[in-house]
Amino acid sequence: MKDVVIVGGGIAGLAAGWRLRHRDTLLLESEGRVGGRIRSERRGPYWLNWGGHVYAGGNSATSWLLNNTGVDSIAVPGSLAGLSMNGKLLLKGRVESYPFRIPMPMSARVGMVRAGAKVALSVARYARIVQRRRGETEAQRQQRVYDFMNDRSFKDFIGDLPEDAEALFKPTVTRSAADIDQLSAGAGVGYFSLVWNIGAGLSESILGGPSTLTESIAAALSDRVRLNATVDEIVQKKDSAVVRYREDGVEKEAEARCVVLATPATVSHRVAVDLDRDVREALSKIVYGPYVSAAFLTNETERQVWDDAYGIATPKRSFNVVLNMSNVVHGYERERRPGSSIMTFSPGSLARELLEHDDDKIRRIYLDDLDQVLPGSAENVVEAEIQRWPTGAPYCFPGRGGLQQTLTRRTGRVLLAGDYLGTLYTETAIQTGLSAAQEAQSLLATDRQTARHGLAPVDLAS
Ligand SMILES: Cc1cc2nc3c(=O)[nH]c(=O)nc-3n(C[C@H](O)[C@H](O)[C@H](O)COP(=O)(O)OP(=O)(O)OC[C@H]3O[C@@H](n4cnc5c(N)ncnc54)[C@H](O)[C@@H]3O)c2cc1C
Repeated sequence: MKDVVIVGGGIAGLAAGWRLRHRDTLLLESEGRVGGRIRSERRGPYWLNWGGHVYAGGNSATSWLLNNTGVDSIAVPGSLAGLSMNGKLLLKGRVESYPFRIPMPMSARVGMVRAGAKVALSVARYARIVQRRRGETEAQRQQRVYDFMNDRSFKDFIGDLPEDAEALFKPTVTRSAADIDQLSAGAGVGYFSLVWNIGAGLSESILGGPSTLTESIAAALSDRVRLNATVDEIVQKKDSAVVRYREDGVEKEAEARCVVLATPATVSHRVAVDLDRDVREALSKIVYGPYVSAAFLTNETERQVWDDAYGIATPKRSFNVVLNMSNVVHGYERERRPGSSIMTFSPGSLARELLEHDDDKIRRIYLDDLDQVLPGSAENVVEAEIQRWPTGAPYCFPGRGGLQQTLTRRTGRVLLAGDYLGTLYTETAIQTGLSAAQEAQSLLATDRQTARHGLAPVDLAS
């Protein structure tokens, strides 16, 4: 019998695997690669990127994992808050000045300023809400963040706006993968807080690309990681759990003292057949929105005006943000190296529209828009690859806060981990992976003590 079987080789499962690397573990991943929604590939000094790109710094679980695995990260240089709209590209200056610098009808400008003031006030409140208070646990802090303005949608909060004003709001909020009428008001405000307070949220870039982290952990875990191993069912016994899976098409079974279940909620709900009924029901209520993303490698030799920008919001386009992944390289070099790596991504309804097309068509649509946003860039593209993410990210809808206590209640030998358990994406995934591993360690220690004293094993199901 294994100590722990980890299901899912995304960053949550890998973080758990890393913490449990001195135990007898097995990590089962259904795809032919680890990383899940983290995917990057090296191209010379650059990396192409299709998934998670900015990471938590400071005193975070992510920093702990990076330091522990010896993977370097660096603060993203340059602005995350560029804007391209109605033919104008803004790369510098305060975001509050944007409505006055983008050509738009006066009514839109007035609407934008009014709604912007409302959002700014709420961002200030949100900043206080997310702070950890003395003596409280991370779970209490997380619950407070979920409950913040969780009774209505972001659209209800900002009200009806003229077209250009709403278009300006959309790219920031819809990065969540939800449209503005699907996302809770508090989560929408949280997105503005993330973008405006660069440094306080997700603003670290992993050197060499994010897959450096996931591949490094997989290499350390070596043959304990099984790729193309799809888990179909997990059944709990009195003091163990049985995992049924197919590896390269062959049906197999593994028994372990406990299981860290680090798959998206949709999968966890399906495979963990005997979780408490209310937990399974809560899992079934988690909602994901889609993403489509693309990575472009270019070969220009001159400096580009957008070299110093990292993120450029692109309202009214087929993608809602352009990310200059090579800014991390250009931002710290003395002489401009040839080439760039650009990522675009389309969340929510933009993604749903694109998912109707084949990759060639999406590539053409993206290149047309890219050339409008960064003039002249399309002709320098030497490589372009599309990635579809039907379950791009779980988002916080009105009422989501009510599920949190149930989802995080620990019972039995199946321990849940994944980004759907919190509001900070990769940081939540890593933090919940590490804490599930901690819980597994504690169960293993208890089992050993019980066995040593000749007592009956602990029945966690009762
Ligand atoms: C385009 C895009 C941009 C993003 N940008 C950012 C960002 O900048 N910053 C940030 O923090 N986050 C970002 N995210 C979100 C971030 O990538 C995710 O929050 C995080 O990677 C989720 O990790 P996870 O381990 O919880 O889930 P996943 O990465 O989904 O891992 C789950 C794993 O389980 C495997 N699996 C599924 N079913 C089974 C089964 N039956 N058996 C075995 N294995 C199975 C999957 O193949 C997958 O590898 C972005 C995501 C996308 C798609």
